[in-house]
Amino acid sequence: MCGELHFRAVVVALLGILTGCQSLSTTGGIFPAPLPVKIRFLLTFDDGPSIQTDDNPTLSILEQLAVNDVQPAIKAVFFVQTRNANGGGTEIGKAIMRQTYSAGHVLGLHSASPRGHVAHIRMSSTELNQSLQDGIADIRDITGHDPGLVRSTFWAFTDQTRRIYEDNHLNMLLTDVKAHDGVIRVFNVSLRRRSHIHSELRAVRLAIERGELQKADCFVPVVVAFHDVNTFTARKFTEYLHILMEEAVKAGLKPAEKPFYDATQDVERIALLRTQPPVMVASLKPDVLALYQSGARRGRESISPCI
Ligand SMILES: [Zn+2]
Repeated sequence: MCGELHFRAVVVALLGILTGCQSLSTTGGIFPAPLPVKIRFLLTFDDGPSIQTDDNPTLSILEQLAVNDVQPAIKAVFFVQTRNANGGGTEIGKAIMRQTYSAGHVLGLHSASPRGHVAHIRMSSTELNQSLQDGIADIRDITGHDPGLVRSTFWAFTDQTRRIYEDNHLNMLLTDVKAHDGVIRVFNVSLRRRSHIHSELRAVRLAIERGELQKADCFVPVVVAFHDVNTFTARKFTEYLHILMEEAVKAGLKPAEKPFYDATQDVERIALLRTQPPVMVASLKPDVLALYQSGARRGRESISPCI
């Protein structure tokens, strides 16, 4: 029985290769044939900044984004908690948010409640509205302009919370791939992170095939979510970059030659394009609108070839 199944599996795999559905990897494994479109990863981080004094995980991630052996100078979106008493609400936290912005990353809003990482859906409308306004002001103090992006805490949102985001000109960005590193269970995460990422990238492939994830400029952006307060994530972050690349190929996805977004303007613009529901242009503030429209203009002019 097992022998027959094995034989069948080999025949199916060979047929797949012959008909172009699958391809042999360099290590002899059989992967699905890559889709014709290329993907590019848009990295995002939630819950920071960390104010840990030894081996600060947020700073460690900033260093690895800048210098690693996959692609240097990667830029990301950091969804920060600007008033967390153990993070952004402290002087160290504020300094790290400034450093993050100075390094060319985008600051989005995650929470601005002094009560910490509170679910937006559990806050009264008044409290949520006030906390968003506080967070916008905190980020404006650092960057000089209002943030255009928000990520709901615990990924939880309702029509009401979304309306309050929109009233504050905030666009909600969810994710395609989660590193599942929000809860710090070191052994669990370390053993299963590759399989988690693989299964989510397979779902990304199916979403592209169904036409649900579309190209923006030249590539299909794939949003990936990490937690920069997680010390395990920070220690292993460069490994995560490799895992994303390797598991994408195994899932039949073709990363672009530059597999990660590395220009601040592109990061913010592409993130806006991927917000849900799609941005309402009429609701964008002038500087965010200009950024949003710069993409359309650049697309028409086709300045850079799709490589
Ligand atoms: Zn969070």
